[in-house]
Amino acid sequence: MLGWRDDRQLAEVLPAKEAKALKSAFGYTRCWQVLEHYPRRYARHGEGTDLAAVEEGDVVTTIGVVERVEFIDKGKHKIFRFHVADQSGGRFVATYFNAGYVARVLTQGARAIFSGKVTHFRGQAQMQHPDYLVLTGPGKEKQPATGSLKALNEYGSLHELLGDREWIPVYPASAKISSWRIMGAVWEILETLPKIPEPLDYHPFGMPSFDQAIRLIHAPDERGPDGPLLRLKYNEALGLALAMALRRADNLEHRAPELPRIDAGLHTALLESLPFPLTEGQQQMLGQVSGDLSRARPMSRLLQGEVGSGKTIVALLAMLQAVDNGRQCAMLVPTEVLAAQHARSLTRTLAAAGSSATVVALTGSMPTAAKREALLNIVSGQVDIVVGTHALIQDTVEFFDLGFVVVDEQHRFGVEQRDQLRSKGRGDFTPHLLVMTATPIPRTIAMTVFGDLAISTLRELPGGRKPIQSALVPEARPAWVARAWSRIREEILAGRQAYVVCPRIEGEGGVLEMHEHLQNELFPDLSVGLLHGRLRGEEKDAVMADFSRGGIDVLVATTVIEVGVDVPNATVMLVRESELFGVSQLHQLRGRVGRGGHESLCLFHTLALPGSTSFDRVSAVAATSDGFELANLDLAQRQEGDVLGTSQSGTARTVKLLNLLEDYPVIERANEDAALMVGRDRARAERLVADIEEQARQYLEKN
Ligand code: ADP
Ligand code: MG
Repeated sequence: MLGWRDDRQLAEVLPAKEAKALKSAFGYTRCWQVLEHYPRRYARHGEGTDLAAVEEGDVVTTIGVVERVEFIDKGKHKIFRFHVADQSGGRFVATYFNAGYVARVLTQGARAIFSGKVTHFRGQAQMQHPDYLVLTGPGKEKQPATGSLKALNEYGSLHELLGDREWIPVYPASAKISSWRIMGAVWEILETLPKIPEPLDYHPFGMPSFDQAIRLIHAPDERGPDGPLLRLKYNEALGLALAMALRRADNLEHRAPELPRIDAGLHTALLESLPFPLTEGQQQMLGQVSGDLSRARPMSRLLQGEVGSGKTIVALLAMLQAVDNGRQCAMLVPTEVLAAQHARSLTRTLAAAGSSATVVALTGSMPTAAKREALLNIVSGQVDIVVGTHALIQDTVEFFDLGFVVVDEQHRFGVEQRDQLRSKGRGDFTPHLLVMTATPIPRTIAMTVFGDLAISTLRELPGGRKPIQSALVPEARPAWVARAWSRIREEILAGRQAYVVCPRIEGEGGVLEMHEHLQNELFPDLSVGLLHGRLRGEEKDAVMADFSRGGIDVLVATTVIEVGVDVPNATVMLVRESELFGVSQLHQLRGRVGRGGHESLCLFHTLALPGSTSFDRVSAVAATSDGFELANLDLAQRQEGDVLGTSQSGTARTVKLLNLLEDYPVIERANEDAALMVGRDRARAERLVADIEEQARQYLEKN
């Protein structure tokens, strides 16, 4: 929590049994951890949950009034059926077997909380033996609570706790500890907590104070939880915004080598010998990057460009500008296949332009001798450009004089990783940084997670490109499946190449099986290649190089080819079982074709049935090739955790309530306030952020 934390030990505040249960269920030992365990939702008197719409077997907590009691005497079994109405008009039946005492408390007109598993019988929602707590009615004094609700007794009077609450918090619970016990613990912690002074030096206008917010989020008053929620989200957003504003301010203080464009250098030579004119977008981008590089302040730029928009050549030209100034460049890529491909094509492009710049690849699976030689050449300055996977980040990699870092396909790397690579500059110099991604980033994420980067966008595809045709190939239509294979053969007869992408290596429908099937049965007269993540580095390289040279007609591959792979002669792709891939992934895969001047085709095979959500998802991808549109669709379907990526874990952990995709207004406001605060009192901003980092660290250590 930004600027404040209740550091009391749980064991000091709660009954020993309860403190222990919280520790074993969630690992919590301090009060702030329980206070940050926010309600998942609220059961509200007068509103209730729509029980008819609840999934079979869900555990639900709701408040209702007993309308009618039905007694069925089956001799051996006495059944009580309580017909309960919540005030929204929803109804359900609570059934108890052989439990006469219940009827004495849950009399007609009694108002109670019910908590239990919901089942449906003939359209009627039912709960069998739900736990209950009588709020008003004659039973209040006799037998006020049962089951998990009884646990609240630990905390004294149930009625003080629950009696006139309108919003009952429902907490993320576990088998070890129920929502009620968490509620009791929170209540006790708040009861014994003195008023919290405002942790920021101002009170955000129109929001509750922090003290109010933390109390009301757990026990909303009649105005409901929106106010406290907004305030706590604001604090979370401010934490992220301060971190980013500080990074920006920090960046301004670092010095980078000035790398101006040199007229008679490698940069110009390549520019003049390119086989194609740069698109307007590429020129603009290059202009910006080139300008940034010439300054003594480190560039921090994010280039987001549609798949196939030609980012690599822009990066290469920029790198040569740095090389012209005698500096080294590092390009970080997410896969070994991509590292090898970039190294190969950079070398080829440079050779074609008669350039003397040297390129080397560095990956984790390189043979030791080759790696040692590469490392030596890097540290001695023999190599100008290093393309590598995360192996590049390791401590053993030292540069002679690193001036410029390019990160390709940013979504696979986090802040920490790009910082690590950036720390390898010479002396006090911070290398310039260009981050590239083909996954468009929504503005809220851009502000929070990439808030320290200037953003440029490249939407245009190079001229002469024909749009990629997409088609669905449902497994249920054998004629279409057959047609898909014959389309592939036609392309190959016309001199083109094909990808067949499978979702797995082994087993039915895996690349091994598919490769055998195609080579032995469907295409015995063609050359069918195989590529997957379990091959050794050199094997992968050899296959990719062969495919790239045209030696392989059909490449059967897993998603190792998902990002960045560039073989312009490949014009058709068949994705098997597309429903198993996400939207962005399908779009990225499709981007492997349509990279030359030929008509291209992407066939999305699917086992999903028409009408299912997975079928719809695949159809949506087939219907448009606008990456920005698809990115929004994709984000709408994913959790922020995914959006942030695992490497952003520190961030994810400090954000519990904020929805990074939807809470734009509060994120924007926090960003404005953070910029002001960093400008006015940087030390204070640093202290605030250090607090949350400390918290994230403690949390990490405990887990
Ligand atoms: P991405 O932006 O997806 O990384 P690449 O940089 O791999 O795209 O470029 C895709 C293909 O387009 C490559 O084969 C590249 O040589 C080619 N290309 C790049 N710029 C142009 C251009 N201005 N005109 C024609 N082809 C281009
Ligand atoms: Mg690329």
